[in-house]
Amino acid sequence: THFGFSTIPSTLKASRVANVFSSVASSYDTMNDLMSLGIHRLWKDHFVRCLNPGIRPTGPAGLRSESTKEEGQRILDIAGGTGDIAQRMLDHATTVNKDMKTHVTISDINPEMLAEGRKRFAGSDYQLAGRVDFLEANAENLSTIPSNSIDLYTVAFGIRNFTHKDQALREAFRVLKPGGVFACLEFTPHLSNSVLDGLYKRWSFGAIPLIGQVVAGDRDSYQYLVESIERFPGQGEFRDMIKEAGFLVPGQEGGEGEKGGWEDLSLGIAAVHKGVKP
Ligand code: SAM
Repeated sequence: THFGFSTIPSTLKASRVANVFSSVASSYDTMNDLMSLGIHRLWKDHFVRCLNPGIRPTGPAGLRSESTKEEGQRILDIAGGTGDIAQRMLDHATTVNKDMKTHVTISDINPEMLAEGRKRFAGSDYQLAGRVDFLEANAENLSTIPSNSIDLYTVAFGIRNFTHKDQALREAFRVLKPGGVFACLEFTPHLSNSVLDGLYKRWSFGAIPLIGQVVAGDRDSYQYLVESIERFPGQGEFRDMIKEAGFLVPGQEGGEGEKGGWEDLSLGIAAVHKGVKP
């Protein structure tokens, strides 16, 4: 491999990850479309739709505190990068739930990725209304965010890059309000069908570094991204890590898909995990 991450100290790993995202920031959105054949858009749409962000106009009474109704939700999009998830959440809250107040903080460790996000929202209605802001922070240490202050914590295609995933999950738990939701959209290391898994591995290990080289002039960063998917825990193991951090997850050990407490997308290439803070 190009990096041999498993054998290098974690501090070095963190800086390597930072370099990867600095070098891909400006080509990141185009590359996502090419590498996933545009499917990442469908996954993100689905992820946001199933979270239904924003205060529903006619929800069951008593489900939300009066102050949340007044102020909208506080959403924290971790590893928010160029703002793909934040944009969708604000659009959903506004157009589906007619909620003009819900606020999203886009947080990322990488200033170049955040700069792309800032560009996207510059001059937008959301920015003018103060419904979006940016925070440069490591997901493993969100010390500027008070405990019990967030309604919804999202992380899409981010957590597999974190050095200490368990620490990031504990921080998610800390900042969420009781009843708040943790939601993660991430690639899975293996497809359940081994034939498809073989084909998919050939695509990802063959084509993606090549596309990275041709389009972004950066083979190594995309090689790293593919390898980081391989190293991420499987769905059941990741569900157990979420439980370990204190979240309630309905799924059972040995269960698959919804019975296991997660949702597989596109044959299990990606999965959605959720947890609720009791
Ligand atoms: N969520 C966006 C999306 O779905 O398009 C961006 C995903 S991008 C593949 C991963 C992001 O994770 C990068 O912007 C990177 O800077 C960020 N990241 C990596 N390690 C991080 C950490 N420890 N804390 C916060 N963000 C991190």
